[in-house]
Parts: sequence; structure tokens; C-alpha cells
Amino acid sequence: MSSVIRDFNGPPRQLMVGLCPRDGKATFLSRADAKRAARGMFPGQHHRPVRCGDRWHFERIRGGS
Ligand SMILES: [Zn+2]
Repeated sequence: MSSVIRDFNGPPRQLMVGLCPRDGKATFLSRADAKRAARGMFPGQHHRPVRCGDRWHFERIRGGS
């Protein structure tokens, strides 16, 4: 099993509302949108929504250490 990241086309445009001016991450209006986008982009991986100001990003949860 390789853990190569496959084609990264960015988050679905319908969900993404832009890039964060602070950290450059994909930004979403709501927690649910961030989760949904993460699932669409990285099926099978675990992500959690993280809040940034009044918008949301997601970050990957690493399994193991
Ligand atoms: Zn941010």
C-alpha cells in the first residue's frame, strides 16, 4: 500500500469560499462544509474541522506516531 497523495485538485469549489489570508488554507463557511470537502478530497483519511476566525479549515489527523 502506498500512501501517495493522489491528484490534488483542491477542495470542491462549491464548498470552498476562498483561501485564508492568514495561513493560506482552504476556507469554508461551516464546520460541516469543511468536513464534507475533506471527505471528498481524501476519502478514507480522517480529518477534523479546525476553526480559524469565523471560518473553518480542516486538517488531517495522523494515525499512529
Ligand atoms: Zn486560517
